[in-house]
Amino acid sequence: MRNSSRLKAIWIDLPMIVMKFGGTSVKDAGAMERVIEIVKTRAARRPVVVASAMVGVTDALIRCAEEAHAGRESEALKHLDSLTARHLVVTEEFIMEPSRRQYLHDTIKRHFQEIRTLLKGLAILGELTPRSLDAVVSYGERLSTLILAEAMRARELNAQWVDARQLIVTDDQFTRANPLMELSEKRAEEILIPLLEEQKIPVTQGFIGATQDGRTTTLGRGGSDYSAAILGALLEAEEIEIWTDVDGVMTADPRVVPEARTIGELSYAEAAELAYFGAKVLHPKTVLPAVERGIPLCILNTFAPEGSGTRIVEQARNNLMGVKAITAIKGLSLVTVEGRGMLGVPGVAAKVFTAVAHEGVNVLMISQSSSEQSICFVVEAASAGRALRALHQAFELELARRNIDRIHAQDDVAIVAVVGAGMRGTPGIGAKVFGALGKSNINVISVAQGSSEHNLSLVVRKEDADEAVRQIHREFKLGESESA
Ligand code: ASP
Ligand code: MG
Repeated sequence: MRNSSRLKAIWIDLPMIVMKFGGTSVKDAGAMERVIEIVKTRAARRPVVVASAMVGVTDALIRCAEEAHAGRESEALKHLDSLTARHLVVTEEFIMEPSRRQYLHDTIKRHFQEIRTLLKGLAILGELTPRSLDAVVSYGERLSTLILAEAMRARELNAQWVDARQLIVTDDQFTRANPLMELSEKRAEEILIPLLEEQKIPVTQGFIGATQDGRTTTLGRGGSDYSAAILGALLEAEEIEIWTDVDGVMTADPRVVPEARTIGELSYAEAAELAYFGAKVLHPKTVLPAVERGIPLCILNTFAPEGSGTRIVEQARNNLMGVKAITAIKGLSLVTVEGRGMLGVPGVAAKVFTAVAHEGVNVLMISQSSSEQSICFVVEAASAGRALRALHQAFELELARRNIDRIHAQDDVAIVAVVGAGMRGTPGIGAKVFGALGKSNINVISVAQGSSEHNLSLVVRKEDADEAVRQIHREFKLGESESA
């Protein structure tokens, strides 16, 4: 059997890449045709292909399971029939050998028969456990990859369908399982390496795996990116390509800033900041296996494959002053605890955030001036009321003694975040940001900058948020072609 050093020796000679295609990239026959053309351009780089379910299929399967569970079996089965038809139609679009087509049809029908049996079971038991939900939703990816692999063969690609449940070993946290990397690494070596050595293109499912004793699990919604990162890490891939329906990560939301552009390169840290601030980027947990091994991730557009996309790497190039993107989160409230009696009293902050945490309220940003007259923090608008109630209770005594004067919330605020690792140690960023906002008369309510200097966050009124993003974007000339 191979050990890891042998694995490395192989990959130095035979580098490979992981190509992950999301749900829109395999949504129908036309999209799959594009996928095949794209894979052809990478055939020499030894791709392992990972795909999501056809877009909407995971949601539809969850709905079927819920309907069956709620006793609406006939509705569930009706919806399942339309899903069957949707999958069969895709196969009609590809010209293939009659025997392969027969095999494909039979397998799709058998899969749907199995789902039907599972749904009936749910209806009879009136019970829907995370484990049975995973069993049902796993068919989405199994079906899409089955069709894709056959379509690739029909187009002279040497594809081999691989069951991800043989590959990705997980714990038994159904619906949000965690990969067991060491066990999975052995499986990847045993299953994928021989295929790659035979010049085959493995085609496997994102999102799904299995426990050590073979029970089907899923990695959480949107988990196909996670699968790609896991496989990339296991195989020490040269690169992980994430093929989706956007050109990459943008400098700002193009609906707000028409001149927003695709960012050429981001660091892992910048990508994490942006994901946190709601930009359409890979989830930080998802990319962790790749980050730990320093494997570059590329976000590319299946529907515009000529674009260079966004590359996410350990050390990214910087552009002007290191600012990469401007984002905004709306629907927030700013909660303030103020009082002259807070000065020099230890434990006030601890008490504030303990009270808020007890309520399960998530804090997005914190700011306290060094005069210690007030602490303010931002929460989602929907949880502001709970935060205020918790604080009034916790500080009942201090309020009565006037050590704390007031606890209040300002609704309808937004956080505007200026993100970029190159901002660290670059003077003048704050001046430019505030200058841009001053010129357009936008009032900044509160400010926070983490000491990592990867992110400068400003609180503004909700109505000012879009204009603030546009002004800052313009000030840093992010709409112009990259300077570095
Ligand atoms: N099909 C799964 C979902 O919709 C996984 C994925 O698309 O990444 O959540
Ligand atoms: Mg997806």
